[in-house]
Amino acid sequence: MLVKKMEIKFFNSLTRSKEIFKPITKNKVGIYCCGPTVYSDPHVGHAKSAITYDLLVRFLTYLGYKVRYVRNITDVGHLVDDADEGEDKIIKRSVIEKIEPMELVEKYMKNYFDSMDILNVLRPNISPRASAHIPEQIITIEKLIKKKCAYESNGSVYFDITKFKDYGKLSKRDIKDQRISSRNIALSEKKHSEDFALWKKADPKHILKWKSPWGYGYPGWHIECSVMSMKYLGETIDIHGGGTDLQFPHHECEIAQSESFTNKKFVNYWLHNSMVTVDGLKMSKSLGNFITIKVLLEKFDPIVIRYFILSGHYRKNLDFSQHTMESAKKNVEKIINTIKNIKKAVALGKNNKDNNEDKQLIINLNNFKTEFLKKLADDLNTPEAIAEIFIFLKSNSKIIAQLTNLNINTLKYMDKIFKDIFFDIFGFKLIENVEPNFSNINLSHLLEQLLALRETLRKKGFFEESDLIRQIIMNNGYLINDPKINI
Ligand code: ZN
Repeated sequence: MLVKKMEIKFFNSLTRSKEIFKPITKNKVGIYCCGPTVYSDPHVGHAKSAITYDLLVRFLTYLGYKVRYVRNITDVGHLVDDADEGEDKIIKRSVIEKIEPMELVEKYMKNYFDSMDILNVLRPNISPRASAHIPEQIITIEKLIKKKCAYESNGSVYFDITKFKDYGKLSKRDIKDQRISSRNIALSEKKHSEDFALWKKADPKHILKWKSPWGYGYPGWHIECSVMSMKYLGETIDIHGGGTDLQFPHHECEIAQSESFTNKKFVNYWLHNSMVTVDGLKMSKSLGNFITIKVLLEKFDPIVIRYFILSGHYRKNLDFSQHTMESAKKNVEKIINTIKNIKKAVALGKNNKDNNEDKQLIINLNNFKTEFLKKLADDLNTPEAIAEIFIFLKSNSKIIAQLTNLNINTLKYMDKIFKDIFFDIFGFKLIENVEPNFSNINLSHLLEQLLALRETLRKKGFFEESDLIRQIIMNNGYLINDPKINI
């Protein structure tokens, strides 16, 4: 398919401005995104990142670009502490769960992919694992030492940030200031406090370790992304994505080691997605407010979750609350009902004559699609793209309410545009013969209200009506144990 001529703009975190997107190779786009460290259940924050870049891939693919999307799996080297101290997150967790580190990795990697499959997140073209690219990482580190950008110290290797003059350019950090405030690092293996580990020495008891020119050890977290992105996407890549929390130090370190290695620009467009908050609060271990995807899927349909994530701009924090989910559910219901009604009308296949309504609807559909795509082309502005959906539904509500009056070709065209927008680009997925699960979210609240109404009716002696409510509740699988009433 030819690339549809459409100017796309992305907010580039490196320049802090919106820039017109120009791929390195015509009609092709290479995207690298920092994937999960697989040591615990994926949560709603993982869903936000995955759905954001899934939308980007789907949108570019829809426009006709050939996309190669690489998202890594970190299965070694991500330490608890950013300052290259502390334990490997995977080893720490494997001790708690009393299983082998690689068994833990398999368990949570499967959990991650299963969750994303249910959310209809397309699998990346390549999902490289850090542990499967140890030789490449060692070769890269050796070259960095040769170029005097890195040094070995007590069996570990560190990148010397003073050798990369642009260190801090992405996160806009003034490294000089930091250095003054942390001079007392004389006892450390590092020359400067901000130097970061490319390779860490492993003690004999360490389970995940490999032989290297510096003894047994394991790679630092940052080097895997440079090595794997270069291997699969080349020395300069079009788009690099990740959460804002990764900007520093992770992405800053990726730039320093990659650009020192190649003497070329590492990434043309840096995209960063913001976080999910819960009732206005950041998700954190101390607050215990992490919402796992597993729990989320028990309560909400995957389409509602996707819609909720897309209802906010990817660069803004998105608040998860009962209210925001209720609102997402209501809006999805409106969209799905319309899609189903169109499908029913197409199935009826009445070949009405073309009339003015058909002509007007075709014009409106074309305008709607153009505006929708324009909003996405403006730095993936999904809230505004969603606004276009509801402007269209509202301004065409009369026609949509009488779909069977339309010509079959108009209906088929409408069905096609809705398929493009909701299934191909937004990634909604309707499972045949399974109604989307809209009910659970409100069930407890609804049940409470029904029970209260029934109680009032019983007290007033309307037993026939109260029994009817009892029956409705029981039909939904709930039992009511009434205290005996003395009449
Ligand atoms: Zn990364």
